[in-house]
Amino acid sequence: MGLTPAETRARTRLLMRRAVLSRAGQDRSEDPEAELTRIEAALRRIEEGRYGICDVCGQAIGAQVLLAHPDSPVCSACGRDDPPPAA
Ligand SMILES: [Zn+2]
Repeated sequence: MGLTPAETRARTRLLMRRAVLSRAGQDRSEDPEAELTRIEAALRRIEEGRYGICDVCGQAIGAQVLLAHPDSPVCSACGRDDPPPAA
């Protein structure tokens, strides 16, 4: 897309912040501390050049998943970012 790595990181940070804020009023099932930990882990993956690669299967995480869950460490097939709703 012609973005520099610094621009990519800045954009990703904004996407993550927006995703967290958008979920803040809806999803009380996740501890904010856990959410922050996942974001920090995602930022670390960016620094290491592993961002967008599934932690489980090693395939690329789809753009749709990253847009909805910028901090997701797995692809939609491995799907740990979307646990089934509590019964
Ligand atoms: Zn996967």
